[in-house]
Amino acid sequence: MIHHVPLRPPFRDFPADEWNVIEKGFHPKFLAQLETMLALGNGYLGMRGCPEEGGPNAENATLINGFYETRPIVYGEEAYGFAKTGQTILNVTDSKIIKLFVDDEPFSLPDAHLLSYDRRLNMKSGTLDREIVWETPAGKKVLITSRRLVSFANRHVAAISYNVTLLNAAASLVISSEMTADEPSTFTDANDPRQTRIFASRVLHHRTSYSKNRRIVLCHATEKSRLILSCAIDHTLETSCRHAHKVSYAEHSGQVAFTIDALPDCPIHLTKYMVYHTSRTASAEELCGRAEWTMDRVTTQGFQQLLISQEQYMDDFWRRSDVRITDISEERAKRSTVEIQQAIRFNLFHILQASARAEDTGVPAKGLTGQAYEGQYFWDTEIYLLPFLIYTSPRTAKNLLTFRYKMLPQARERARQLGHRGAMFPWRTISGEEASAYYAAGTAQYHINADIMYALRKYVHATDDTSFLRDCGAEMLVETARLWLSLGFYSDAKGGKFCINSVTGPDEYNTVVNNNAYTNLMARENLRYAAQTVEALRATDQDAYNALVHKTALAPSEVEGWTRAADRMYMPYDEKLKIIPQDDSFLDREPWDFRNTPHDHYPLLLFYHPLDIYRKQVIKQADVVLAMFLLGDAFSLESKKRNFEFYDPLTTGDSSLSSCIEAIIAAQVGDIGKAIRYGVAALLMDLADVGGNVKDGCHIASMGGTWMMLTYGLGGMRDDDGTLSFWPRRAPEDNAILRFPVTYRGQMLEVEIGIDQVEYILRNGESLSIRHGTEEIQLTRECSRAVRPVTKR
Ligand code: BGC
Repeated sequence: MIHHVPLRPPFRDFPADEWNVIEKGFHPKFLAQLETMLALGNGYLGMRGCPEEGGPNAENATLINGFYETRPIVYGEEAYGFAKTGQTILNVTDSKIIKLFVDDEPFSLPDAHLLSYDRRLNMKSGTLDREIVWETPAGKKVLITSRRLVSFANRHVAAISYNVTLLNAAASLVISSEMTADEPSTFTDANDPRQTRIFASRVLHHRTSYSKNRRIVLCHATEKSRLILSCAIDHTLETSCRHAHKVSYAEHSGQVAFTIDALPDCPIHLTKYMVYHTSRTASAEELCGRAEWTMDRVTTQGFQQLLISQEQYMDDFWRRSDVRITDISEERAKRSTVEIQQAIRFNLFHILQASARAEDTGVPAKGLTGQAYEGQYFWDTEIYLLPFLIYTSPRTAKNLLTFRYKMLPQARERARQLGHRGAMFPWRTISGEEASAYYAAGTAQYHINADIMYALRKYVHATDDTSFLRDCGAEMLVETARLWLSLGFYSDAKGGKFCINSVTGPDEYNTVVNNNAYTNLMARENLRYAAQTVEALRATDQDAYNALVHKTALAPSEVEGWTRAADRMYMPYDEKLKIIPQDDSFLDREPWDFRNTPHDHYPLLLFYHPLDIYRKQVIKQADVVLAMFLLGDAFSLESKKRNFEFYDPLTTGDSSLSSCIEAIIAAQVGDIGKAIRYGVAALLMDLADVGGNVKDGCHIASMGGTWMMLTYGLGGMRDDDGTLSFWPRRAPEDNAILRFPVTYRGQMLEVEIGIDQVEYILRNGESLSIRHGTEEIQLTRECSRAVRPVTKR
């Protein structure tokens, strides 16, 4: 069901373009949305798309992944084992401010008389570009162009090339380049649990600040999380106009002001370099030193070099990841294809920006485009993001799984606290410790443990990285399998089946339930994969097996226990409806009164007490339907159809994680109308603000879901059984050609699904074995292309 406010059209002044998100004209009304949409980031450093002039801003944030402060979680009523410490990503030093004054008139977007305005997120070069002609009150015309980048090649670096030319007169100019550590950001609605918490007082404490020539360095530290941050700015100014500069700085700010006697048609090029370093262990001096080394290097190389590396990085990314749609039908359809292509690239580009250099962190739910969800990591990464990363940037996928591995000590401790064996990964976290303050929709989501292991298996199958499985994966598998075994029990009431009680599935509108089908199914996979992995190690690599036994104190009998629990896992089934009940009590609940729920009362969580929601049959996001996608082989088509028809009308889609999955299953069961509606909603989630909260940040999970929609959904890709296969099917009236690359076991395959045939091309690699339906296809360097007919629906 799509309950959202009807899609807001991509704003009129936003012409569709395959490679750019373009804003023609300054739109204060969309300030906050655009800050999110035009944000730049590299997975380590993120800057919202605020104008250079330092305003106007809705929520101007500069974010560093994993740079957070803690705060005690205050409960009205405490209970044993509640998470104690909240973690919130911080709005760090804003270094990108460049103010312009012409004859002392400040250039300020809301008041300026703009003769032209063009701002665009350039997804080919990985930059935010702006070109403006401003007429001052005195009639002087000023051309202002800027290009901003957050470097992928050097994750500590950002830069702005800022150019001013007086077009019809001379003038006195001041360009004031500034930095400020003036947190906090204040864009917070106390009634919306998805938004971030703000700290009552300053959390970035001054350590040191100094300047050298046109360079300023500020260093701050947090008190409780004990993190330290150095931020440096430096400049070059190129012009034949006469100029001078003045530098000043204080504890929390710095300024380099250039005064210039600007002549008409005489360009002024300012390049501003920005560097960020963070650490838990380094001293302030050491961290400032690091910022200076980086700064020395980038200023020597220059902006052009940064831009070249950025473009190369982008080229490489698109070569590995671009999903292309071309339409061979009439003009109108072609236009909408440009819109779809733009939306696809926008989603993929933001995933890149959220994850590329997330090297010892996770990926926050909003990437680095906003502070909502406090910059914390959820299951979003493993279930929604990792499939894309595994098949396009396996190294990034490995980094993210390694980050989970490094969390094992905290996960073990958390399991112990809750009376379990093994390890229990946090529902939401930055540091590795559980930070969810509402256990019913947080800690109780035990499925996250199986989700991480599901992603591990996908990664290992797609990359054949057996050393990661041996060195890190196996240990996580042992500990999560132990968790399931100690959490569940063999229930007499359920015929001796293995039951898992008091958990919350993905659907947060039905909490603390018994035998959530999604959880049981995913736990079964987890247990089986753990048993298989341990057995395989024992059989093939005695040293690795011994090391694992040593690390985990594994007893051989445990493995049998996992297999037994998996084999006897309780799977709810309703004979009358012939569906899988979402949990033991779901079918007993009173149906939600959708008819009398006003359209503006979604998401329900903002308008109804949780109890009101929990006692009714109403679903926040795909749950059984998600299981049908992730574990497609476990369901017949008939069963998928019946379950989809039952659950879809009850699903509000109040979480952005829903539409993409509903779209895939709708397509599988042949409901093309719904597949398209959900598909469009998912594709435009952020570009057209489908959920109405883009202002708070991009929906990174949904963005990852759009890739799954295109490849698994439209492309018929499957990998459930560990081999890569394609079952492309298409509707007769469908005239689009879909092309996408997949990196599989170190080689690159390109899949092109045309009107009547599908083509598989080995683009990179020696030899690759895939399946088309049930037919095995061997592609080699010599014979790198195979063409097969597409099945029509
Ligand atoms: C969803 C969760 C998700 C979280 C962060 C919530 O609204 O229900 O499944 O993990 O958002 O994206």
